[in-house]
Amino acid sequence: MASSCHYCQAPLKQVVADLGLSPVSNHFRTASEAATQGQTFYPLTAMVCEACWLVQLTDVTTPPHFDENYAYFSSYSSSWLDHAKRYAAQMQTKLDLGPQSLVVELASNDGYLLQYFKKAGVRVLGIEPSANVAAYAKEHHGIDCVVDFFGRTLADKLREQGTCADLIVGNNVLAHVPDISDFVAGIPRILAKDGTATFEFPHLLQMLKLGQFDTIYHEHFSYLSLLCIETIFASHKLSIYGAEELPTHGGSLRIYAKHANSSIEDATLAAGLDKIRKNEAAFGLDQVQSYRSFANLPARCKTDLLAFLVELHRTGKKICGYGAPAKGNTMLNYCGIGPELLPFTTDMSPQKQGMVLPGQNIPVYSPDAIWTEKPDYILILPWNLCDEIAAQLHPARDWGAKFVVAVPELEVF
Ligand SMILES: [Zn+2]
Repeated sequence: MASSCHYCQAPLKQVVADLGLSPVSNHFRTASEAATQGQTFYPLTAMVCEACWLVQLTDVTTPPHFDENYAYFSSYSSSWLDHAKRYAAQMQTKLDLGPQSLVVELASNDGYLLQYFKKAGVRVLGIEPSANVAAYAKEHHGIDCVVDFFGRTLADKLREQGTCADLIVGNNVLAHVPDISDFVAGIPRILAKDGTATFEFPHLLQMLKLGQFDTIYHEHFSYLSLLCIETIFASHKLSIYGAEELPTHGGSLRIYAKHANSSIEDATLAAGLDKIRKNEAAFGLDQVQSYRSFANLPARCKTDLLAFLVELHRTGKKICGYGAPAKGNTMLNYCGIGPELLPFTTDMSPQKQGMVLPGQNIPVYSPDAIWTEKPDYILILPWNLCDEIAAQLHPARDWGAKFVVAVPELEVF
């Protein structure tokens, strides 16, 4: 494979996970489109750069990832809203944000986070490439958004217009940008002298430790460690002064960055940073063997889940899915699970209802279908929201329904 690192251009040699061919995970279609039109499958392979330790997808030209019709609305998840609300309260205290302060969120989505700063009287600005979710933020929360992709060029334009942020937030965006270096280059351009920038991203260490191979999909270009992110930030004169581990998305990191010449300090956050550096070193994130051993895990998940579903099929038990997230599409496509083994899934998002999943063409219904079909088993595809979903589906216990998650390992409860 003749790919080179997206960040440092060193040649890529080590495969982390080869998940075969898969369609782009947000390409939902109608049943009639699925019955009459082909769908393109693209290689889905993650590799690690042995020079900068960036885990990344190999170069594959897939269609543009922002599809207006099926854009993800963050506010559909109540646990994610709670997370955002807690973060906003915490940062207002920590950074002493008031009516003169400005919070800029990169990939501000439907205003799920900025709404809490706005309600507290802090000035906010969203940057959001999807016009329809940005319009929702304006309409429902009165949040102004710049509809564009963030990077060096946009940051220069914003700085000329006087944008100077006391806090820059980026949640689950670093992994999604095709040119991470250009994106990070924009941050110091609009960050106030003693401002803070925080970023949350799924932690590569957790993915590798727990076998979360389904977090690999085409829209997710990079799989980040603190080790790699410190290198990238340092090259743009940003230094990381704190870090925390979060339970979101199966184990995320929140990093706190500042200008390299800023004097901000926080002893608690610095201790967290030190601990995470040590955990990564102990696992061996700077050694190629640590990545190599991950490559066998997806196959174990696949055989366990297939054996379980085939047994249900043979014994006439009913199963359906809950959720239609990107990670579910990676898993179902890698395992080759179609409607014969999983007759339908359900999703809260009206944009997905009535469509079929990319690749395997499993129909997506409203969660109401669970109450009419009364399945014996419900496969929870967004396992990161498992507790929240199991609580919502609790009444299904009345007819004896059991819940199933497939990643990191098969669990029936
Ligand atoms: Zn590299």
